[in-house]
Amino acid sequence: MTKALRVHNLSKRFAGGKLALNNINLEIGQGEMVALIGASGSGKSTLLRHVAGLMTGDATPGSMIEVSGRCVQRDGRIQQDVRHIRSEVGFVFQQFNLVDRLPVLINVLVGRLHAMPWWRSWTRMFTAQERTAAIEALGRVGIAECHAQRASTLSGGQQQRAAIARTLVQGAKVVLADEPIASLDPESSRNVMEILSRINREDGSTVVVSLHQVDMAMRYCPRVIALHQGRVVYDGPSSELTPALLRNLYGMQADEILNGSSTLHEPAQPAPAPAVVAWPMPMPLAQAA
Ligand code: ADP
Ligand code: MG
Repeated sequence: MTKALRVHNLSKRFAGGKLALNNINLEIGQGEMVALIGASGSGKSTLLRHVAGLMTGDATPGSMIEVSGRCVQRDGRIQQDVRHIRSEVGFVFQQFNLVDRLPVLINVLVGRLHAMPWWRSWTRMFTAQERTAAIEALGRVGIAECHAQRASTLSGGQQQRAAIARTLVQGAKVVLADEPIASLDPESSRNVMEILSRINREDGSTVVVSLHQVDMAMRYCPRVIALHQGRVVYDGPSSELTPALLRNLYGMQADEILNGSSTLHEPAQPAPAPAVVAWPMPMPLAQAA
């Protein structure tokens, strides 16, 4: 079956010399909900931006990123039909990225622009059908009543929900969310994670969400990919992550990602072996170092 996402031999060295991604290899199946965790600076945003085709990797021969079986970039070059692929990928940013002075409905409809003839997007005209679809999407994220308000009048949590509604209207099959709850209070954070989880279940969309803290990853995402200094150091079931494992993986930085993770405890007894292991098992630490 076609994978939602394939990343092969991806490295990224920034102009300053910093190696932000160090030979990333991973595959994510359609309909998976995956958390990308790691301390700040571990490469989460850089990886998501590469997948969305917003950045090119190093020109390593054989390096490649595919979304839904179509090549986004190869050997450090963006592929020509990347626009079509980008239309399948919804991106949710930490800072919401709405246009403050425009109504919520218009912000959400912007998700449709890729599908419109240039003259209609230019004149910002949307059909009644498109407006209805946008209000429906806002209903799914629980803020239909806010559709006529300016984006700037919404709370952070509501703005993030509108950003998610935009990916629904866009018809994104893959949703990449880069620390979508980092600026939110705990209740709004739970709301946003519930919504992402619901979209994943109900629409079968693939969701990859980067999270600074690990307890949310464990609560909402069956699979976790952990980055440390640009490398994948763990890729496996979230149920098998323990503070001890994270300390092994992250050393001194473990406290940063464990901080505030009140729900993450050492299991009282050894965890039973998972019934289905759909992903590669955790790497031996020697390999991860
Ligand atoms: P995270 O999202 O996990 O906090 P990032 O992907 O933002 O990490 O950053 C990974 C590393 O790459 C960091 O060391 C960061 O300083 C560096 N980095 C990110 N963006 C740039 C850039 N545009 N230019 C130079 N270095 C960058
Ligand atoms: Mg980041």
